[in-house]
Amino acid sequence: MTLDELDTPALVVDLDVMEANLQAMQQRVSARGLKLRPHTKAHKIPALAQRQLSLGGEGICTAKLGEAEVMADAGIMDILITTPIAHPIKYQRLVALYLAHPEGVFCQVVDHAEHVLGIGKCAVAAGVNVELLIEVESGQQRCGVALGKSLVDLIKLIEATEGVSYRGIQAYSGHLQHVQDFAQRQAQARAAVLPIFDFIDNQLLPQGLAPRVVSGGGTGTYQAYTGLGFTEIQAGSYIFMDAAYRALASRDNSRQNDEFSNALKVWTTVISHPTPERAVLDAGMKCLSIDMGMPLVEGREDIRYQSGGDEHGILHLAEGEVSLTIGQRLLMLPSHCDTTLNSYQTLYGIRGDEVVQSWDIAGRGRSD
Ligand code: PLP
Ligand code: MN
Repeated sequence: MTLDELDTPALVVDLDVMEANLQAMQQRVSARGLKLRPHTKAHKIPALAQRQLSLGGEGICTAKLGEAEVMADAGIMDILITTPIAHPIKYQRLVALYLAHPEGVFCQVVDHAEHVLGIGKCAVAAGVNVELLIEVESGQQRCGVALGKSLVDLIKLIEATEGVSYRGIQAYSGHLQHVQDFAQRQAQARAAVLPIFDFIDNQLLPQGLAPRVVSGGGTGTYQAYTGLGFTEIQAGSYIFMDAAYRALASRDNSRQNDEFSNALKVWTTVISHPTPERAVLDAGMKCLSIDMGMPLVEGREDIRYQSGGDEHGILHLAEGEVSLTIGQRLLMLPSHCDTTLNSYQTLYGIRGDEVVQSWDIAGRGRSD
């Protein structure tokens, strides 16, 4: 099938660009002496997770237990669930993953005694052992236990609780992934986590409580984490990139971010052209998320996208620019890959004008 034959709106990925992104991140992280544990919240597709593993990934991350269930069902046996879970229903599901896949390790992030005791109780009843990673406050003020006695107590509690074991620490500074200036982003990323490594060296190590694993970093911050004590990087968006990541400055601040290239696009159609300056697209916020700003029209920087509600996108054409035609197709660059992808059931792989592959987005909507 050619792209022209594909109905819209459709989510497409440039296969060659995606493959280059995948290889580049694995090489860069390996070159820093770190492991890459790709965050699959970006794509939610087991086959792409398998590709990341075959390139050298240490295992994968999922944001949610539901995504982990999808990945485990597809045979992926080393999963880190990076968001705490907090109800017996969830604890039972986590334990059920271990029971369904005895050869698997499904490490769960926690930040409170409540989680540890709840998971431990279910694990003991089921006769399994659940690995835990403690999320530590890393500047974002989202989840995360504070450095100090509360962290030491939590580690000791895990060590004393049957059914669970202590793997280490998660330190993820999500608020710094999109700091515009490259050097500032790297400096702020290091500064946010330095106290954690001080604490490990000066408090945890002497007590025999040092983490085996320290996991963190994303597409915007992974470069900052050389020589600190991180063991693995959890980047996710690099596989696709998006307009928000592209808008960051390059390393020398002379251009837009050129570390990875935009692979994910939405194939759309112009459905109306009420005035010469205004056209309307069949893609509103249900298929092009706007939580990180507006999407871009590939190859037409003169056109500005404005949200037209759930199902419409309004395109503003600069005066004197080439107009569009009703029925014309446009490739849009999503502003945020994660939230855009979650609206689709199928991802089409393209090479030039050819649609050569498609995947079911099996983890789509699995925020449970
Ligand atoms: N780790 C955690 C805990 C995250 O929440 C995210 C993304 O939100 C990532 C890693 C991946 O970051 P990115 O998609 O910016 O590479
Ligand atoms: Mn994101």
